[in-house]
Amino acid sequence: MDHFLYRDGALYAEDVPVADIAAQVGTPFYLYSTATLTRHFKLFDEALAWGPHMVCYAMKAASNQAILKTLAACGAGMDVVSGGEYARAIAAGVPGDRIVFSGVGKTEEEMRAALSGGIRQFNLESEPEMERLNRVALDMGVVAPVTVRVNPDVDAKTHAKIATGKSENKFGIPISRAREVYARVAKLPGLRAVGIDVHIGSQLTDLEPYRLAFRKVGELTDVLRADGHDIQRLDLGGGLGIPYTRGNEAPPLPMDYGNLIREELGDKGCEIEIEPGRLVAGNAGIMVSKVVYVKSGEGRDFLILDGAMNDLIRPAMYDAHHDIIPVIEPAPGFEYQPYDIVGPVCESGDTFAKQRMMPPLAEGDLVAFRSAGAYGAVMSSEYNSRPLIPEVLVHEDQFAVIRPRPSFDEMINRDTLPSWL
Ligand SMILES: *Cc1c(COP(=O)(O)O)cnc(C)c1O
Repeated sequence: MDHFLYRDGALYAEDVPVADIAAQVGTPFYLYSTATLTRHFKLFDEALAWGPHMVCYAMKAASNQAILKTLAACGAGMDVVSGGEYARAIAAGVPGDRIVFSGVGKTEEEMRAALSGGIRQFNLESEPEMERLNRVALDMGVVAPVTVRVNPDVDAKTHAKIATGKSENKFGIPISRAREVYARVAKLPGLRAVGIDVHIGSQLTDLEPYRLAFRKVGELTDVLRADGHDIQRLDLGGGLGIPYTRGNEAPPLPMDYGNLIREELGDKGCEIEIEPGRLVAGNAGIMVSKVVYVKSGEGRDFLILDGAMNDLIRPAMYDAHHDIIPVIEPAPGFEYQPYDIVGPVCESGDTFAKQRMMPPLAEGDLVAFRSAGAYGAVMSSEYNSRPLIPEVLVHEDQFAVIRPRPSFDEMINRDTLPSWL
């Protein structure tokens, strides 16, 4: 459920008409709902209320300071995957002991920053990383709390670009080698193993792969404890999918996921950590864009929008579907017609949808891409010298620009000229 609904024929974000925001901010822009963000976070928090837990929002999904502060105020920890994300989390006021650091390529600078600013744990993904973190921690005179990300070799049954839990993926260490690796960690004085980490992929629409993975993590917990390791936390990653097509899909609910965790791991006496990103932010955001032209081609009509692949790359990158709806509800009795919906960028890949059945639309009409809150703004670029589009946050009947649109001058002036030009 989200808070982007029609009222008297106009699309609202909470209590604000989307068209009013468009008139003030200009198009295209991203628009987030505070009520939806907090609702989704709380669903996870409640799903794990049966035991000690921490929900660490995977901020790579949407990392605007206002979004982080909104979630942190609900009690969210953060899952970060870069020094930049760590700095953003700290800037949003998240205490270091609520930040977990994931990612396969942490650099020494990133390790140092997190160890000096405070960190709940590093989720380690390889043996060279382990040796490096040990050296850095010893050099700084501290002990780094760590988990090892194990790759359980289960098929998450999701898009190949976002599946991470098969043995051929670059993530984690094979679960079959976990005992050896934890034995090595125990010998490194700069590291202290506090738990186990797993994350099998994103946009999972079936709980079964989770069950298989969590069962393996449960067995590993027993084995590692028998080996003498003090396993206190289980970080189970993120990945729960969201419905991108209204009325068609019913991915599992956070409560079912929480119950599954309890069934498989509830008896381990561990603190459960999860790292949801997409399900928190995805349906909490839309991208609003305007029809620039309606162009009739041979046998097909194109809706050419002012938003493009640089603003929302998911359709081009993951063949992703986004529902696209008119901001002014069409009059009753209209007939759907097929459009190819495209942006102005000079690539055929700049196509949001082919032969999409839409109500009739005309130049100047506004449309909203639903479910664009996660992996939308954060993946945008200035390709074709299109400045990054603004982000706006709604809270009940108020809205605020939370990242302004740069002017052309601001965009150009980030370039610097060498002395010889
Ligand atoms: C991407 C990622 C997540 C979040 O995945 P979602 O599908 O957005 O929930 C969590 N943990 C790790 C390690 C990730 O890489």
